[in-house]
Amino acid sequence: MTAPHRPRPADALPRHDPLSDAEALALADADAPLIEELCRRAAARRDALFGRTLTYSPKVFLPVTNLCRNHCDYCSFRRSSGDAGEWTMSPAEVRATLEAGRRSGAGEALLCLGDRPETAFPAYRRTLAEYGHASTVDYLVQVSQLALDAGLLPHTNAGVLSREELRRLRPYNVSLGLMLENVSLRLCAPGMPHHKAPDKRPAKRLQMLEQAGELRIPFTSGILLGIGETRRERVESLLALRASHRRHGHLQEVIVQNFVPHSGTRPLTSQAVEALELRHAIALARLILDDEVSVQTPPNLNAERLEPLIEAGLNDFGGVSPVTPDYVNSQSPWPHLRTLQARCAGMGFQLRARPPLHPRWAAAPEWLDERLREPTAQVTARLQQRPPEGRPLQ
Ligand code: SF4
Repeated sequence: MTAPHRPRPADALPRHDPLSDAEALALADADAPLIEELCRRAAARRDALFGRTLTYSPKVFLPVTNLCRNHCDYCSFRRSSGDAGEWTMSPAEVRATLEAGRRSGAGEALLCLGDRPETAFPAYRRTLAEYGHASTVDYLVQVSQLALDAGLLPHTNAGVLSREELRRLRPYNVSLGLMLENVSLRLCAPGMPHHKAPDKRPAKRLQMLEQAGELRIPFTSGILLGIGETRRERVESLLALRASHRRHGHLQEVIVQNFVPHSGTRPLTSQAVEALELRHAIALARLILDDEVSVQTPPNLNAERLEPLIEAGLNDFGGVSPVTPDYVNSQSPWPHLRTLQARCAGMGFQLRARPPLHPRWAAAPEWLDERLREPTAQVTARLQQRPPEGRPLQ
């Protein structure tokens, strides 16, 4: 008697990419063998699009303020005014950090902060006034200019911004960012991680994504795994990112980021994301997103399992700082760049530094304010001459 025919995982996959919406959604429930086949397919697509080169952006991290009006259950970064550990960087601290970044060979200044703290904290408004500003965005303009003066290219992630605020920051930032995280409204319901975070309503974030595209701002977004979302909701989020990119062409990179539990995390988000789940999401991102969009995963959140993630199809590690910690994930130090280089080489990949503005967007005049062209050319040239960095990070 012959054994019944079992379809091979490869037979269950469409033969083309990118996947259609229906094809992608059908793969949300893939079992382990099919996920392995998805990873093989995604890695082949990555190799065809980006070759055997993995990129990262040498950066300096400026946590301009950790005050935030939202309360995401999983966040260890945010503080309220008066809390132990609250900070707002003074212009002098900004200058000193930028100088250290420039000395380290960084090309990017990442400005990262909580959402709209001036609407929640009078003491913060007074601090801004001392620095001569009426709003956070006013201060970000100054910090961005200081970064440019230091020879670094600003990339700002300040949470949800209005169209006018985006317009204001555009001449000072080569790119802006906002994690979509997830399109699920379910995650905003009582008892869920975004319930007390008005700026995590998916519609608001999608609107900002649209406005950035309309204003021709190169953009970074991504999804966050491990906050109570379902696999289908991850796929729906990737499809929403693709749809926005297809309208505007502005998404340079999509981060597939795993939440890393830490002390104080609520039970819903207390489990680390399993490697198979992360591989599945990375592979789907590569197979869903259009050719020019990089798929990025932070190496410091996955130091023990980089190789299987590379095998799932990522092509970029995002920003890695030689001089500052990851303030948002302070318990996850960035890898030594020589170690990262060696691990990439062990898999047959070259590790290469890149600026925060990817070449495709840097080459198109409508995506870059005239004032940023010369600084972008200078940083790009500097990074091209830069040998792989090897100094310890922590
Ligand atoms: S919006 Fe960002 S900084 Fe604010 S609580 Fe949520 S994750 Fe933390």
